[in-house]
Parts: sequence; structure tokens; C-alpha cells
Amino acid sequence: MRHYSYHPQIAVLGGGPAGLSAALAAARAGKQVLLLEKNGYLGGNATLGLPLLGFLDLDGRRIVGGLAQEYVRRLTERGQCLGHRVCPKHNSVTNIDPEGFKLLAIEMCREAGVQVLLHAETIRTEVRNGRMQMVTLYGKGNEIEVTADLFIDCTGDGDAAYLAGCSFESGQPGTGVLQPPTVMFTLENVDTARLFDYIAEHPEEMTYSATIDHRPGYDADYFRASDNHVFVGLRQTFTRLREEGRLPVERETLIYIKSLKPGEVYVNSTRLLNTDATDLIDLTRAELDGQLQCAALTKVLRENVPGFENCFLSHIAPFLGVRETRRFSGIGRLTDEAVVSGSIPDDTICLGAYKIDIHSGSDRSTLFKTVRTPFGIPYGALVSSEIENLFIAGRCASLDAAALASVRVMPQCMCMGEAAGTAAALALENGVLPRDVDVSILRERLLKNGAILTMAQVESTPVNE
Ligand SMILES: Cc1cc2nc3c(=O)[nH]c(=O)nc-3n(C[C@H](O)[C@H](O)[C@H](O)COP(=O)(O)OP(=O)(O)OC[C@H]3O[C@@H](n4cnc5c(N)ncnc54)[C@H](O)[C@@H]3O)c2cc1C
Repeated sequence: MRHYSYHPQIAVLGGGPAGLSAALAAARAGKQVLLLEKNGYLGGNATLGLPLLGFLDLDGRRIVGGLAQEYVRRLTERGQCLGHRVCPKHNSVTNIDPEGFKLLAIEMCREAGVQVLLHAETIRTEVRNGRMQMVTLYGKGNEIEVTADLFIDCTGDGDAAYLAGCSFESGQPGTGVLQPPTVMFTLENVDTARLFDYIAEHPEEMTYSATIDHRPGYDADYFRASDNHVFVGLRQTFTRLREEGRLPVERETLIYIKSLKPGEVYVNSTRLLNTDATDLIDLTRAELDGQLQCAALTKVLRENVPGFENCFLSHIAPFLGVRETRRFSGIGRLTDEAVVSGSIPDDTICLGAYKIDIHSGSDRSTLFKTVRTPFGIPYGALVSSEIENLFIAGRCASLDAAALASVRVMPQCMCMGEAAGTAAALALENGVLPRDVDVSILRERLLKNGAILTMAQVESTPVNE
């Protein structure tokens, strides 16, 4: 086995929306940063064909700036994004080209001087006296030992924090049921115009469960007006197919994200119930069953849905999309109560406003709760309460279950990463631990880099630049 040793100032584990942003923020602040990612590319779930949800609040105001907005601006300049669009159902949608995001991530890391190591999966940690001494990663018969002043765990599942023995919660309170994962897939040759004609004639297809609070205008004309849309519908068709025993997925509706390419859609409609994606046996079952669901659902759509008659399955996502696993303990926490009440504390490092969106891990339902006004994610949600030199950012941060169901959307994960990376740089400059970072200075830096942290800013920020 080959052995490598790295000694960056800051090691970021996981190169998804949170990790990429953490690494970029820290490197742009002049620090030596090593970004370690288990896949052969950067971007995590942002490469699956998903839209960026959560940029706008219920009233259509933009609440996210900083690096997340920079990705959107740069993709838009390349024709790989159409900017933010108000959506009567999701508050907003910001569809992106997933391959474009992958490439942009490489370019931005190179510009900022982030050192990247791919195919490197975190497998071991060494903790002494409450301090992470070393993280070991493995890939292709190589073992990589990383010592760093500070570590930022952005692995989604919080693998480093878990291996270090940090305490965590998972699942819904009381039941522990985890939101289910999904294998995303791509269909080509979809005649969306024909689908929209069909739903215009069949408005009953666009009805939703009682928990969904959406505004009028989510209809054929809305979809026809722009490729920047996410389609959620066909409830009657799905109900009929289920009653006939012909629906291969536990879903109430079809969800697709319109690609920016003609006739292409990314389908988010497989569902793998009762899956703990941190358990390799469950993970294997879910990957295999999910891939089979992609083919089975394609067949059912071709045979039953106007516009899909001639479509074909062109791509199955290379990894299972995981909505929820571990939530770690921080020196602070984003609580369900804070999300519902719209609290914006003084140590806010970014705003959230996406609805609480809980996909059931045990049946076909999805529970929504409207978030009426923006709330603030506190800095302490990113700082491990157990390991003094460890940040936890993205969906593994210190969050209550329903709070996660809102801030798991990618713009908020990007902002959490950016704040963690900026705070890490600040901690090193001042020779303090993450828990002792002066949050007012951190907020000044974030603001200087375009973050939106207050309602006054929300009121005055244009939706699109
Ligand atoms: C099916 C599905 C649909 C969704 N829909 C939307 C949507 O429409 N809009 C939206 O904004 N959000 C959506 N989300 C939520 C969003 O995609 C995630 O919550 C978000 O990407 C989390 O960001 P992250 O950086 O914390 O984690 P991830 O995106 O999961 O990134 C984690 C990264 O860490 C790497 N990694 C994992 N373990 C290790 C390890 N041990 N060592 C090294 N690297 C590791 C992974 O390969 C990955 O690159 C959806 C999620 C799913 C699963």
C-alpha cells in the first residue's frame, strides 16, 4: 500500500455544496487548504440534476448571496443556469447544468489555490484530549494521513465526526424514521409541450396533499414560460397506476427538473423506504433497487403519460441521493422552533426560508410546513461541541430534524460551508479555537463577500443580478 502525508492548515472532508464552499472561502482568505473527496469529481449532490432551491423566500425575495450566488452568476454567464425564478410551489427554482457545476467547481478550486485529492474516503480519525490529531483516508490502495490545524467535516453523513466518536441524532423525533434516499435519473426525448397540453386539460392531475400550501399559477402556462421549472404532478395517474398495482415507486406524484437541454428532464421520483444510508448493507440494497426503479418508472411513464411516449433513460446517477442521516452536536443549534418563528439571532451566518419538506421514509407521503419568514442559522451550529478543532457544515451540522428538512437545500449548505471556511481562516489568524471566533468579525467578512444576513438586506437585494 502507498502512504501519503499531508499537512494543510485546513482540511475539508467532502467536496459537495458545503465542502466546496468551505474550501474556497478558506483558500480565498489566504490559507493552505486540502479538499478531500471520495468521488472522482467535485460537487456532491449538485451534480445530480437537482435545482438549487432556497434562494428566495415565500415573498420572492432573495435571501442568499456570497459564494452560492457567485456559482449562479458564473453558470448563468455560460448559459448553464437561467437565474432565479419565483415558483408558486417551491418559493423559487434555480435550475443548473450539473456538468457545468462540476467543471466550475474545478476551475474555482484552481483559481483559489485549493489542493484537491479525489477518490479519498475518510476511514479513520485520531483524537487526543478532545482534539482531532489526524484523519486517515483511503483510495485505490493508497492511504493518506492528514494532520491539520482545523478540520471541516462536510461529508453529508458527518463521517469524520462519527469516526471520532461525536454524538449525533438521526431521523424524526419519536420514530427515528429517516427521510428516504432517491436514485436520480435522466430522460431524453420528452415532449414537454404535449405534457403541458395534457395537464391544461386535466387540472385534477395538479392537486396535492393537504399539507402543501402553494399559491395559484402552478400550471401549464407557468411550465411553458420557461425551462427554469420543477414539475410536480400527475397525482391522478399515479393513484390509478398504484390501484392497478402497476406503479413501481412509493410516490404520490412525478417530480422532474427541467434540464436546460431540449427534451431532457432529471427525474426525482424513486424512493427507497426504510434505508439508513450509513449502513453499507442498506446502502447496497437501496442503490440496486433504486437503479431498477429508474428503468421500471421509465417504462410506466412511456406507456401511460402523454409526452413521455418516446422518451428513453439516458443516465442513472452514479450514487444514491441521500436526504438525511446524522445530525451532530454543536455549541449552538438551529432548532425547529427558530425555523418556524423566523428568529434571526445576532450570530446568524446565513438565512434560510425554504419550507420544511419531510419525505416519509416509511410510506409514499411527503409532509410540508410553510416557512413564512426568513430565519437565521447560528454560527454555533457549525462548531462541534466535542472536538475543539472540528467544524461540521452542510446537512450534518447541528440541526433539529425539521430544521434540517428546511436547510438541507443546497444554497443553505453552501452558505454553511462558506461560513465554516471563513471562520476557520479567522480562527487561525487570531490563534483561537473555532468556539472562540469573534462572530461579529466573521459576519463582517461574510458581508464583505456578499452574504445576506439581515432583513434590511433582503428588502434591498435584487432577485437576479
Ligand atoms: C434526492 C434528493 C433531492 C434533493 N432535492 C433538492 C433540491 O431540489 N434542491 C436543493 O437545493 N437541495 C435538494 N436536496 C438536498 C441537497 O442536495 C443536500 O442536502 C445537499 O447537497 C447537502 O450538501 P452537503 O455538501 O452537506 O452534502 P453532499 O451534497 O452530500 O456532499 C457531500 C460530499 O462529501 C463526499 N463524501 C461523503 N462521505 C465522504 C467521506 N467519508 N470521505 C470523503 N468524502 C466524502 C461525497 O462524495 C460528497 O461529494 C436533495 C437531496 C436529495 C438526496
